[in-house]
Amino acid sequence: MKDSNFLKEKNARSLWHPMAHPADSLNNPPTIVTGAEGVRIRDVDGHEVVDGVGGLWNVNLGFSCQPVKDAIARQLDVLPYYSTFRGTTNDVIIELSEVLREFYEPDGLTRAFYTSGGSDSVETALRLARQYHKVRGEAGRTKFLSLKKGYHGTHMGGASVNGNANFRTQYEPLLPGCYHIPAPYTYRNPFNETDPEKLSALCLQALEDEIAFQGAGTIAAMIMEPILGAGGVIVPHESFMPGVREICTKHGILLIADEVITAFGRSGSWTGSRHWGVQPDLMCTAKAITNGYFPFGAVMIAEHVAEVFEKDTSGAAAIGHGYTYSGHPVGAAAALACVAETLRLNVKDNAAARGAELYAGLQALQGKYEAIGDVRGGEGLMTAMELASDRGSKAPIDKQTIGTVQEVAYQNGAMVRVSGPNIILSPPLVLTSEDVQTILTALDAGFAAAAG
Ligand code: PMP
Repeated sequence: MKDSNFLKEKNARSLWHPMAHPADSLNNPPTIVTGAEGVRIRDVDGHEVVDGVGGLWNVNLGFSCQPVKDAIARQLDVLPYYSTFRGTTNDVIIELSEVLREFYEPDGLTRAFYTSGGSDSVETALRLARQYHKVRGEAGRTKFLSLKKGYHGTHMGGASVNGNANFRTQYEPLLPGCYHIPAPYTYRNPFNETDPEKLSALCLQALEDEIAFQGAGTIAAMIMEPILGAGGVIVPHESFMPGVREICTKHGILLIADEVITAFGRSGSWTGSRHWGVQPDLMCTAKAITNGYFPFGAVMIAEHVAEVFEKDTSGAAAIGHGYTYSGHPVGAAAALACVAETLRLNVKDNAAARGAELYAGLQALQGKYEAIGDVRGGEGLMTAMELASDRGSKAPIDKQTIGTVQEVAYQNGAMVRVSGPNIILSPPLVLTSEDVQTILTALDAGFAAAAG
């Protein structure tokens, strides 16, 4: 077995971690993961736990998905790389595009533009939205709208539409012309409204007000997650996304669904947009498209948007954007195998059933522990608990308490994610009921320890 302290020392001296203070590696060393099987991960010290995080919301099929591993290995042998920049393509990416066209047909999305991950997909969608309006002769439509609490990756465009100061402040100034609408977040909102349907109506009115204030003719697109993930699993009322769709359509604003987390079954439906009965104009995907085994993503494009580009004869629709790894053949092979397995196992139904069990279990824990201020989820395997030091005032929890919950849960068999005041659960979609129980029992132990 590798020596844990030796590795932690090397880790601290030679690399920085995303979303962490560089000094954390020394003061609070990360778990060193050395192996994984099924829905379990193993660390350097020999602990084996259920991964309640599913990698990072992406390992939907677990860590032992042999068809995806085989597809990657096979493709590395045949064609490990070639570019899809103008003039060349590859056979696997063509095959994948046809498969995705079928998968996304109910969402009205018929073309794919490939990326290396979620942030790239967001950046691509924002750019295509601006270009779409330029091609149509509405060059004044350049602004973007998004939701407070929304998360859209870490490129400058994505950070500009992000709705959380933690991902913005140190990197300002960001892109001008980005405006944020209140999210339908019942636990905390500027309207003090706790009824989800009424809150949805208030947020939709705020969207209308912002459009009127900015002038519809200045706005390119509205970007939103169908269920807000990293912001703490904020599940809008069912009226919300259809309402956003209607408002965007009325004002000629494109709707970008950021489905980096929600596509491929996590919400209990094949896509989050379909979950709410909405067809977006552009959809960002990544993560589970390759089960997390290969960095890959895509922006899916609605037929009517594609037509505007394809019918252009002025040259304005020439795409001056793309990545070295756009259409990577190994990513394509991984995605082909992954989509096939996702459909064969019908993981969306297991996500819905196990998600309901997990959500009910967390609600039961809330009955037991004062520190659990809010439990959110109920739509597939996206669940969060927001912790508070006092339920009445919703005063924030201290870092130490939430850290104790996480640490003791880990010692008792489950990896859970802490993000701000939230404990987020997004396990693989192939989870069993027993695995759900393991997570709940581990959390119970964590909260008991934190309560002292
Ligand atoms: N959009 C959403 C909704 C996400 O959840 C994420 C990542 N969690 C991203 C974009 C960025 O994806 P990536 O980290 O792959 O760049």
